[in-house]
Amino acid sequence: MPAAFFLAPGLIDLHTHYDAQALWDPSLSPSCSLGVTTVVAGNCGFGIAPNRPKHRDLLLKNLSVVEGMDLEALRAGVQWSFESFEEYLVALRKAKPWLNMAVFAQHSTIRTAVMGEDASHRAPSTYELEQMRHEVARALRAGAIGLASSFSPNHSGWQGAPMPSTVADHQELQSLIEVLGQEQRGVFMMATGPRVTPEELASFHTLTGARMFLSTVLTMYNDDKPELGLSYYERVAALQDQGREVYIQTSCQPLSFEFNLLDPYLLYSHPSFAGIKSADEAGKRSHYESEAFRKAFKQDLKNPAVGVLFSGRWDRIFVGHASHPKVQRFESQSIAAIAACCGQDPVDCFFDLALMDGLQTEFLAQLFNANDDGVQPLISHRAGLITLSDAGAHLKFMCDAGYGLHFLGHWVRDRQAMSWSQGIARLTSEPAQRYRIAKRGRLELGCWADLMLFDPIQVGISPVQRVSDLPAAPGHKPASRLIRRPQGLAGVWVNGTRVFDGQQSIDGLVGPGQVLDQFHWGMQP
Ligand SMILES: [Zn+2]
Repeated sequence: MPAAFFLAPGLIDLHTHYDAQALWDPSLSPSCSLGVTTVVAGNCGFGIAPNRPKHRDLLLKNLSVVEGMDLEALRAGVQWSFESFEEYLVALRKAKPWLNMAVFAQHSTIRTAVMGEDASHRAPSTYELEQMRHEVARALRAGAIGLASSFSPNHSGWQGAPMPSTVADHQELQSLIEVLGQEQRGVFMMATGPRVTPEELASFHTLTGARMFLSTVLTMYNDDKPELGLSYYERVAALQDQGREVYIQTSCQPLSFEFNLLDPYLLYSHPSFAGIKSADEAGKRSHYESEAFRKAFKQDLKNPAVGVLFSGRWDRIFVGHASHPKVQRFESQSIAAIAACCGQDPVDCFFDLALMDGLQTEFLAQLFNANDDGVQPLISHRAGLITLSDAGAHLKFMCDAGYGLHFLGHWVRDRQAMSWSQGIARLTSEPAQRYRIAKRGRLELGCWADLMLFDPIQVGISPVQRVSDLPAAPGHKPASRLIRRPQGLAGVWVNGTRVFDGQQSIDGLVGPGQVLDQFHWGMQP
């Protein structure tokens, strides 16, 4: 027995993508066993409501790519009992989530509801834009926690089409954000990429009064440009000093992606991959074999677009799991090291290995936040808000749902980046306050009993594990996903009901979570 356990408020995870999963897995696994008691979904403007029946499959196809979810699992798992955002919240309540859940109004989903197949390809007409504004207002009145959008170059959907919001212009974006001001409700969250600057978000704050939260890999620590991430934090802090409410969503873990060349999502932002996004397996293979393709990819890497996930750091791509014995002997080595050893260009080395392995090789990419000394100033910075787990998404490639336990074990205990009470506040009362989530994130009389009990000596997370438990059509094999397990976590309670007992989540539980729907500006957090 440890000398003492710590009882803390449950974690508030502001950046998840549980929109679809909540309908087939109300436990919101694995977050329910990782200390989280409240989640926010609909981030980056992706989700499933509002919808028109004829566009539903398109929504799922887009989600399957941009959020790395198995399409057949989505088709088998989502029961469409809702069209409007309001009806979606009703469906969520009926599903009885284990954790408290709030949902954003979603730019891409609303664009699809109004514009259908055209949503990824053109600007809206004046009438369509008016419809979109109307849908944002409806969602806010129904209880959305705010509006979310993305201009990220890394967000592409089905067959490589851009996610709908990423083709919008600034005028459209501003016009939708204005609805927050008119309704006096909600915050604005955006995967900005390089197209929207902190200063522009500050001007949206001045215009509307809504709090602004940005997420982009440009704010993460990157060995290639060690000053860049921190410079964003300094810019945002300067804006805060002028009274502008802008914050950066901060990731506290190395951003690592597992991927193979059958589904190289990570590389899709390079123009040379345009033809690969929609190719079948044989088509992909012939691309990878072709000299012309490799030449084009090498050219892309000489001059990568700003904000893309992979910019040519082959020393950060590792061979994970391989099938062919000739490739297996390179497991755990970086492409840069293997290429140097074989006297090959890394691009050729990468494709040759994968082809030799029937494209089965699982690669591991550790692209951002891979250097603790570089990350520490970011996770302690007042311009940031600790979140960005992406829980419920990128299931094939990664699992950062345990970001909070990692933060406590790694940053607070091992590196002593801050005190325990500061660390716990960063994960609980700070996010609750910034997003106006009332009566949560604190252990106080009158607050809800969202709690976690942990051993400070043990707290942390396991390495990723693969489990095959996604929904499947009858007679089909369930698809797999990556999860993590907690270390040193003794219990989690949501609204006073225990959902995790230190070993496992509680069997047969009727979810005690609430669907949160009160976020107007007059309320007290
Ligand atoms: Zn996201």
